[in-house]
Amino acid sequence: MDPQELLSLCRRRGFLWPAYDIYGGLAGFYDYGPLGSLLKNNIESHWRKLYVFEEGLHELVCPIIAPEPVFKASGHLDAFADMYAECRQCGESHRADHLADGLHENPAALSEEELGRILEENAVKCPACKGDLSPPRRFNLMFKTSVGAGSAKAGYMRPETAQGMFVNFPQIYRHGREKLPVGAVQIGRAFRNEISPRQGVLRLREFSQMEAEVFFHPERKTWPRFDKVKHEVLPLVPNDGSPAALSLAEAVSSKVIANEALAYFIWLTHRFAIDVGLDPERIRFRQHEKDEMAHYAAECWDLEAETAYGWVELVGIADRGCYDVQAHLKHSGADLTAFERFDEPREVVSEEVKPKYDAMGGQFKGKTKALAERLSALAPDVVRGKSEIVVEVDDERFAVPSTCFEVVTRTEKAAGEKFVPHVIEPSYGVDRILYSVLEHAYRKKDDYLTLTLRGIMAPIKAGVFPLMPKDSMDRIALEVYDVLVAEGISAHYDESGSIGRRYARMDEVGTPCCITVDHQTVEDGTVTIRDRDSKEQARIGVDEVVRWVRSVVKGDSPGPDGGFETAEKRGN
Ligand code: ATP
Repeated sequence: MDPQELLSLCRRRGFLWPAYDIYGGLAGFYDYGPLGSLLKNNIESHWRKLYVFEEGLHELVCPIIAPEPVFKASGHLDAFADMYAECRQCGESHRADHLADGLHENPAALSEEELGRILEENAVKCPACKGDLSPPRRFNLMFKTSVGAGSAKAGYMRPETAQGMFVNFPQIYRHGREKLPVGAVQIGRAFRNEISPRQGVLRLREFSQMEAEVFFHPERKTWPRFDKVKHEVLPLVPNDGSPAALSLAEAVSSKVIANEALAYFIWLTHRFAIDVGLDPERIRFRQHEKDEMAHYAAECWDLEAETAYGWVELVGIADRGCYDVQAHLKHSGADLTAFERFDEPREVVSEEVKPKYDAMGGQFKGKTKALAERLSALAPDVVRGKSEIVVEVDDERFAVPSTCFEVVTRTEKAAGEKFVPHVIEPSYGVDRILYSVLEHAYRKKDDYLTLTLRGIMAPIKAGVFPLMPKDSMDRIALEVYDVLVAEGISAHYDESGSIGRRYARMDEVGTPCCITVDHQTVEDGTVTIRDRDSKEQARIGVDEVVRWVRSVVKGDSPGPDGGFETAEKRGN
């Protein structure tokens, strides 16, 4: 299919509009129109249902802007960069690794020099005007801003929602009654100054993510419901070429998937994909190559969907090990550890930072007590080998020399041990999912367009029409409309144009059913209800409309106990 046809439908029918169009637009930014917003909400609500209500993860809303130390610690300041090459003729910038597609197995893993050599040897020119290109240069993708007036602090727009959850680990842990696994989720905007945004909403500079950060004991990466799904066989594409038709249990036992928790979240992502209406034949889980992974990941699987643009990553499911929590612990000095109680108290050797009050007193006077408390709270690894350590008290920064503290070893009977939790992260891109859902639902037959959206995704669940706006038909149709809306069902009332035209308008935006009030309704209280996909019509009582529409739009999966209804079963 031609993606331009779908994008044109999206523009015409209020799904997606290029942002700031009257000023010539701004590449990488899109508006969601009225129907796009409803579809986006439906995707996010279903995700919330699975992750928050069914899996019991805790939803947070964290700020979009974060101070520099957060991204210094996370590694984004140093490593979240792509390479670009600029055309010397037309001035356009291009992703340098994309220019080398087909010339190397994994161009993104090359250094600037290596990539530059490959582009030069192959005489690669500007794809837009065939001009000469500059050598590749690295470019950090975060948007920088400043916080406050005067001597403002540097801030960054978050490139992922994840960091807000890592820095809140102690709060999440406490909220979950100090038990692991525990997880947080966030649905919100993320910002990346992409070098060449393109392909509609597949590569944006401002987009929406739905992310979960699930914290585990490093040796117990399991999930309570894994047993219920372990026999499922999913479309896996491992990076070592091992057979793909494995059950999840087999994939874990043969180490194709590193652990049960990762396998469970791959399963949950598959369930979500089917629920939102992606075509089961056009999705797969591809394991990352070792040199393809982000700086934080220990293992990663992508849910990819086949689209007119090729296979596109919609979700990344990564085992991030202890990278993030450890990094924030080290940079902030805060205690981001979890605690596990032993069955019996055990003798354990531990280390701690001990302030030397004598040495500190003369130097820090009245601040000594507060500084000493901050020092004692630091992890030994943070201070080890440092000649001084900077500590903040009452908004003032103090450089405390190593003569003022020491790392001491203690042996004691302990009730348990502290450890840095590991994290498994399913990270979903809402915009790419929304586009793929639309593309997989797009049908064109003799210029007649239908979106076969699943009921739970459809922005409008029912069209309500009077055959003609007279003889009480319009009054009754408006009553039907009011009842549906009062029941929380999004409906659309339309009395203009031929009835065939009105059905066509609803088919084009994926409305699963339409209700028509005609002369017979006035006589016997029955209406016609029409199904979008079969085009079949039935005659039902007005009082049956709500129940009927509900059953048409339900299409919701009952969860791991009951399996899930696939688009195939519905005959999509
Ligand atoms: P890519 O390799 O395509 O740039 P990524 O691997 O950097 O993507 P992640 O950091 O894993 O992406 O982000 C998680 C999800 O966020 C992705 O699977 C994708 O759906 C979405 N996403 C990432 N970047 C963009 C973007 N520029 N525009 C729209 N969605 C995005």
